[in-house]
Amino acid sequence: MIRSQETLNMLLDSISRFVRERLVPSEEIVAETDQIPAGLLEEMKDLGLFGLCLPEEYGGLGLTMEEEVLAAMELGKTSPTFRSAIGSNNGIGSTGIVIDGTPAQKEKYLPRLASGELIGSFCLTEPEAGSDAASLRTTAVRDGGHYVLNGTKRFITNAPEAGLFTVMARTDPAGKGAGAISAFVVEAGTAGLSLGRIDRKMGQKGAHTCDVIFENCRVPVENLIGEKEGVGFKTAMKVLDKGRLHIAAVATGAAERMLADALRYAMERRQFGKAIVEFELIQAMLADSKAEIYASRCMIVDAARRRDAGEKVTAESSCAKMFATEMCGRVADRAVQIFGGAGYMSEYGIERFYRDVRLFRIYEGTTQIQQIVIAREMQRSFER
Ligand SMILES: Cc1cc2nc3c(=O)[nH]c(=O)nc-3n(C[C@H](O)[C@H](O)[C@H](O)COP(=O)(O)OP(=O)(O)OC[C@H]3O[C@@H](n4cnc5c(N)ncnc54)[C@H](O)[C@@H]3O)c2cc1C
Repeated sequence: MIRSQETLNMLLDSISRFVRERLVPSEEIVAETDQIPAGLLEEMKDLGLFGLCLPEEYGGLGLTMEEEVLAAMELGKTSPTFRSAIGSNNGIGSTGIVIDGTPAQKEKYLPRLASGELIGSFCLTEPEAGSDAASLRTTAVRDGGHYVLNGTKRFITNAPEAGLFTVMARTDPAGKGAGAISAFVVEAGTAGLSLGRIDRKMGQKGAHTCDVIFENCRVPVENLIGEKEGVGFKTAMKVLDKGRLHIAAVATGAAERMLADALRYAMERRQFGKAIVEFELIQAMLADSKAEIYASRCMIVDAARRRDAGEKVTAESSCAKMFATEMCGRVADRAVQIFGGAGYMSEYGIERFYRDVRLFRIYEGTTQIQQIVIAREMQRSFER
């Protein structure tokens, strides 16, 4: 749902200009230094990018899902590292509180997440629990006015910078299933919380992940999200339903950027006496990419509108995440091919995108997990 086309156009224009004029020229330096310059982060805060999707009453812009995916497509047109910097505050690092938090939890954390003063993160994955997240082992045992957390979370985006961790842990250690899992917010600096070393990754340099370790970490009972035990896994899945549409949109924006770069190169590069864009085999790669990006946009906007209308979009989110991220991978591969040898060379930038976008098919549920979710939803609707 678009609330005001005019206001949205102004926002999309300002994001697009910021991406073009400030972020694209900084892509290489961020990749080289593995750091986003502090000045750029401040500009992102001033533009309200950390609070795009947070409710207006807590200082965010309160974008609807349709507005959010359109904004995410614009942000996708530069290095995914920049989107990652604001991604957890707008999504996985705040949605649990937005959807299921108590008024006091919202009041305490959302304004600072919306301004970017506080960085949020989402701690679900563990060394032994990835795709099978419901088998997580971190425990949270009640002790008077506190829960005592023990366990290790793995590959947590923005954890090195985070001031707040949304943590899924087992409040009934004897209970094996998802119903024994609860969600907590844990503040950085809490005794017993420590971080592992920053992971070295294939791409998305400048966006950081690390382990988050809990050793007898005492968390006040008020930090149990919604002050309700046993619903933490449901909270996590609701967070991911929304997050998957966002990632699908970012992947689509990245594919558009790579296709634009490939088209420009094909128009300029000459072989056999003419621009390579004149060769039909190059045209086929451009055309296939254009059509797939268009299909992806339509699918994402449709799913977003349905979510705004109150429909449950678990299957549609997974369809969009699977299609858009796999499509993005194919476009990245074709873009490198169109660049030829230059596509393999760092200075042209396209190999960096090729590595950066590989992640989209893995996190927030791998493609195989999306397939499982889609098929399960199909079975459920048949049974109904
Ligand atoms: C850069 C990065 C950032 C991340 N950020 C976060 C974060 O902020 N918070 C967080 O909680 N997690 C995060 N993750 C973790 C991410 O969500 C997991 O890596 C992902 O869900 C896959 O889990 P896994 O790595 O344990 O792989 P595994 O689950 O071990 O999967 C390995 C392979 O087996 C396949 N597979 C698994 N089960 C099945 C099945 N039933 N049927 C068919 N195939 C299957 C998978 O698709 C995959 O191909 C991040 C990961 C990365 C790499």
